[in-house]
Amino acid sequence: MDSQYRITVLTLFPDLVQQYFATSIVGKAVDRGAIVPDVVNIRDFATDRHRTCDDAPYGGGAGMVLLPEPLGRALDSVDADRRHVVFPSPSGRPFTQATAERLAGMDGVVLICGRYEGIDQRIIDHFVDEEVSLGDYVLSSGELAAMVVIDAVYRLRDGMLRPESVSDESFQDGLLEYPHYTRPEEFRGRRVPEVLLSGHHARIAEWRRRQQLIKTARNRRDLLERAQLGPEEYKRVQELLEKE
Ligand code: SAM
Repeated sequence: MDSQYRITVLTLFPDLVQQYFATSIVGKAVDRGAIVPDVVNIRDFATDRHRTCDDAPYGGGAGMVLLPEPLGRALDSVDADRRHVVFPSPSGRPFTQATAERLAGMDGVVLICGRYEGIDQRIIDHFVDEEVSLGDYVLSSGELAAMVVIDAVYRLRDGMLRPESVSDESFQDGLLEYPHYTRPEEFRGRRVPEVLLSGHHARIAEWRRRQQLIKTARNRRDLLERAQLGPEEYKRVQELLEKE
């Protein structure tokens, strides 16, 4: 996974996405050549005087839809027929850490940013390999969604982060992450849990696992149902849930 990762984003707002690629850790990855960004302005592929990229939906209804022709030409220009194309959309499958890991294992991705009511279905049928949803809410456009997808994916590529920071994160073992503490030992009357100061690795690991179970039981019972817990842990979680 240490080769170059090509990320192509098709958007009506290229400045927004270019800014992201120039910033922070992702900017460093671009400078190093680990990520090759390619931001394509869909409007450059409109052919009329006003560079029109949207029109009213057939069948009536509110809002506008991105025209298939400029977007189709933009996709052709990046060879999308031969690449993995992702369309972030509220009606896609949930975007999860597992999706991010799968995409990170490829050699790159093409992302289409929707706007208005969305894009013409024939673009989805012709070009799109998967639609991913960030959650059950509606954003005004796909740029933020595309940046979230890129951010979750590129950091999983080799050399981006220390392996242990990725392996200890939320979702890696189906549970949420344990809480973190740093200096000072006391902050506004709240002390760091004693076990973390003990230097006793086994006890720390046990405490962290228990915190993961508590947090997941409180915030994400749906994850707990899917997590592969041993019988002891399963019993412990049931006790925790009874106390809630
Ligand atoms: N009419 C669409 C619907 O009801 O599903 C909403 C379109 S939304 C205003 C415009 C664009 O924002 C979408 O085409 C998509 O690219 C992006 N978007 C909005 N919400 C999203 C979400 N939850 N996940 C991923 N992308 C989203």
